[in-house]
Amino acid sequence: MSTSQRYRLRNPASGREVVVEGDPDMIYVDRETGEPMEVVGKLLPLAPSTSRLPWAVENLRLCPWCEQPSQKDLNDCPTCGRRMTPIGS
Ligand SMILES: [Zn+2]
Repeated sequence: MSTSQRYRLRNPASGREVVVEGDPDMIYVDRETGEPMEVVGKLLPLAPSTSRLPWAVENLRLCPWCEQPSQKDLNDCPTCGRRMTPIGS
């Protein structure tokens, strides 16, 4: 399990966004243009987490017990803690 937090960075000039793992106090530059990038947000799930999937609709499913969204790579619901049925069963 990785404990590094992932951040979303944006190049204000081009609007290009990348996701990096690491330290928001570091200065990141756009690899293509060399322009400085600004941190626009932390990526969920916040570290540490058992899931490595970003908190995005395509990675989520609804818990059959509490109907709260959870990441598809988790076996246990992060909201109610109950074991979720495997996908596709
Ligand atoms: Zn649940």
